[in-house]
Formats: sequence, C-alpha cells, structure tokens
Amino acid sequence: MQAIVKLAEGYDLRTVDLPRLQHPHDVVIRVAYAGICRTDVAVAEGRIATRTPLILGHEFSGVVDQVGSAVTRLAPGDRVTAMPVHDCGACLGCREKLDTCEFPSMLGVEHDGAFAESVRVPERLVYEIPDHLDLQTAAYTEPVAACLAVAKAAVSPGQRGAVVGSNRIAELTRRVLHGVGYSSIEMIDPVAIRDCETSSLDFVVETSVDTDLFRELVRVVRPRGRIVLKSRTPERVGIYLPELLRKELSLEAVNYGSFQESVDLLAEGSLAVRDLFGACYPLALFRSAFESERGAESKKIFLRPDTDCGD
Ligand SMILES: [Zn+2]
Ligand SMILES: [Zn+2]
Repeated sequence: MQAIVKLAEGYDLRTVDLPRLQHPHDVVIRVAYAGICRTDVAVAEGRIATRTPLILGHEFSGVVDQVGSAVTRLAPGDRVTAMPVHDCGACLGCREKLDTCEFPSMLGVEHDGAFAESVRVPERLVYEIPDHLDLQTAAYTEPVAACLAVAKAAVSPGQRGAVVGSNRIAELTRRVLHGVGYSSIEMIDPVAIRDCETSSLDFVVETSVDTDLFRELVRVVRPRGRIVLKSRTPERVGIYLPELLRKELSLEAVNYGSFQESVDLLAEGSLAVRDLFGACYPLALFRSAFESERGAESKKIFLRPDTDCGD
C-alpha cells in the first residue's frame, strides 16, 4: 500500500506492506479521511523525535477491513474512527483509572499511523460512527475530544472566560465549549490581548502559547483565576513565578475529553465543523497538503488515502 513515511532524513510517499493483525484484539481499518494537524507536521520535520521509518498521521476515519479472533464489537464494513492515543496500562494514572497516562503512545508518533491506505488499531480504541455521520466529519473527532478536555477543568459556564487564539483550533475550542453550556465564552486574538483589561477574566484557555503570550494570560486573569492549558506547544514556555504567586493563579493542564461524547456531539449536528474544513488531497499530493497545514492553520486539511471507502 501507499503511505507517508517519516524517514531518517525527511518524509516521503512510500510503498509499504499492508498492516496485518498481530493480536486477537487488533482491527485493520481502511482509511477514508485523515486530517493533518500540527503534531504531524512537527513529527515530519523532526521537531518531535520518533523512530524511523514510521507512518505518519493520527486523526482519521475509515471502514473496518479485518478483525482479530477476539474482537466482538466490530465487524468488517463498520464505519469507524479511533482514539489515536494508547494508554500504557501500567503507570499510576492507568492503574488508578485517573484517565491520565504518563507513558502514552500515539498513532503516527510511536505506532504506524493513518496517512496510509490501511492502519492497525486495538479494538478498545475504535469507535463506531452512526450512519448519518459522514466519514470526513468523523475524522475530526480527535480534535473535538482534545477541545472537550477543557470541560474537565475546574471552570464553569457561569464564569467569565475566554479562549485565546485566532486559528481554527481556537475556534473549534470555542464551539465545543459552547456546545457543552459555555454560551458566553469569548475569543481573544493573541495580537489584541494587550488591549484586554487586567484581571478581567475568571479563566482563559490557551490554544498555542509562548513566553510573551503566557505573561499576558497571567495579566488578564483575575486573582485566584485559572489558566487552562490545552495546546501541545512542543517548544518550552517561560513562566515568571512571582507574577503567578502574587495573584495565586491556578494552572490546569487537560488532555482529552470523552471520545464517545465527541462522536455524539458531531453526530447530533449541533456542533458545526464543516466550515472549518479545507481541501482534501490524495496521498500523492501530500507535499501540497503539508504546505497548506504549515500555513495559517485556518482550515483543516485532509488526505484521502482510500477513495473506495465511500462518502
Ligand atoms: Zn491532532
Ligand atoms: Zn499509563
């Protein structure tokens, strides 16, 4: 099959073996749509270190092709999406079922990913999608689950809060929060945050941050307020502790919300996302696709690895 492979030097389209069932709980899925996100670009460019060769890609939808002998919940032909993060099962967070894993591994980072005609995933990470949910929207479940994580933070819809960012991830975060009751949440453009009044918000949600912006977040949140950390900004961010201490601010990092709830939000139709979608590219045009994602991040770019999947 064709796949986009991270190599020791750069990344390229390669012909590789089809994934095979390795464990009784494995599922092999033909990939209909795969979304490109900044994590994929960071891996492709070597800013996130990985083994090589490695197939990139972690956001996708598709159709089940093969199931292992112990799989009971799924059958070939089922339309699905999957949580790309595998919990280790052994760390304290996993053992105590805290919904956190210290040593997770991810499709397209540690495991061969979804920028390929087929991908192998354990059954427990696979979610069936309802008939009326199109496969392209279903491929957007992972970003929705990452936004839904904010609802786990100790903030509430009655508080004055804002999502800080100007790209589609910030807009999606706002919409997802809106969908779960945060009807008055604001958006603040990072460029315009200097005009925001000091100590005027109960909480802020960052969607991409650097040292300068972090300092602004500390400034705009009221004393005893909260900064919710949501982005996976891979660069280090400097924090000046005296400013945080004077206001007794709380920092709360959140990872993922419920994947099933995210599928449901998309399926209900109350969370509109299609206007956030940009172009779809065949695997062969992956360079143009990555170039688009590297740009403004205003629209979600998709690859279409197996066009026989439907939709
Ligand atoms: Zn992603
Ligand atoms: Zn773990």
